[in-house]
Amino acid sequence: MPGFEIFGDEEKKEVADVLETGVLFRYGFEGVRNGHFKALEFEKKLCEITGAKYSHLCSSGTAALCTALTACGIGAGDEVIVPGFTFVATFEAIINVGAIPVFSEIDETLCLNPDRLEDVITSKTRAVVPVHMCGAMARIDEIKIFCDKKGLILIEDACQSLGASYQGKALGTFGTSGCFSFDAVKTVTCGEGGGIITDDKDVYEKADQFADHGHDHLGGPDRGADDHPIIGTNYRISELNAAVGLAQLNKLDQILSTQRKNKLAIKDAMADLPGVSFRYIPDAKGDSATFLSFFLPTQERARQIAKNLADNKVGCPYWYDNNWHYYKKWHHLKEMKRSAKLAVELADNLRDYTNIVLKESDNIMKRTISMQIMLSWSKQDIENRIQAIIKSFKG
Ligand SMILES: *Cc1c(COP(=O)(O)O)cnc(C)c1O
Repeated sequence: MPGFEIFGDEEKKEVADVLETGVLFRYGFEGVRNGHFKALEFEKKLCEITGAKYSHLCSSGTAALCTALTACGIGAGDEVIVPGFTFVATFEAIINVGAIPVFSEIDETLCLNPDRLEDVITSKTRAVVPVHMCGAMARIDEIKIFCDKKGLILIEDACQSLGASYQGKALGTFGTSGCFSFDAVKTVTCGEGGGIITDDKDVYEKADQFADHGHDHLGGPDRGADDHPIIGTNYRISELNAAVGLAQLNKLDQILSTQRKNKLAIKDAMADLPGVSFRYIPDAKGDSATFLSFFLPTQERARQIAKNLADNKVGCPYWYDNNWHYYKKWHHLKEMKRSAKLAVELADNLRDYTNIVLKESDNIMKRTISMQIMLSWSKQDIENRIQAIIKSFKG
């Protein structure tokens, strides 16, 4: 999964370009930047890779989510449907734009279940944010059909799934907007960074403005001459971060092919292990292969196997117990703990989060183990890992 495993001369070269000019700012300074526009180049490349018309790079995946929500017109009091299995950033972004997260069930894709969306829809529902978890897709075509039918805005959290696709179409391009993270542990890293993509010119312009204090970027070389059509904030990325990301993005094909090869070797070796079944991936060819996720028949067995794997030094996330990725441990959200009053608390339709229960998600997550697929594994590492996995199933 992590692009940081393959840092090399390419990253150093891109960063050196920036350091040589001393222009760390993505805008302006035309006379002294020696033609280097790393953020802009990254955005072009991201459009090429995903097939999206527009992209905007910002300071984090969380900032990208806030930017996409705002640019799509989601704000105070709007309800946004999200899964209970994701990284906390997804609901943080919703809360931070004043909207209300409404949690819904996942299915065996480990992503939002399109069949259960109807159950949580209300007159305040404005958007659905499926999360393409662990490198692969939700049943995104069905989710899109549902959103279109109900007049809801679809925004994809594809932060963990750069390079993945469904039937040849990049994840992140099904919704009005898609979001990616380029943080330190993602498939491609800027150190810190995130990006939104969209085919909608108005959404793009709003995103571009919002993430830079509302600047319309039409004032020419003098930033002070820009107009400010909307109130924004500062979610800008620096050229240094963009430069690292640009080198990484150029390695995406290599990253994906290595991940797919490594994943396949492990998956094949596990196919006949007793009680193991694999996560449902609607289009296996489009899997970015950052993780191999599998199910055991019961919670007890899953816990035993997770323990055996750890004992045999091939420990894997057991998300059901995880502090950051599963709603069960989100005590801060449940109790609405915060350092100051949130806009969302003024909404008359704010939910009581103290007793969220997602029964079907629990039934799946209790039995799920995910193995992270690394880029740096040698043939021997993979062979050793397979032996350790087989051993773990004997206990
Ligand atoms: C990493 C991640 C984010 C947030 O990205 P940051 O760049 O760390 O802010 C959002 N959603 C998901 C699913 C993620 O994994």
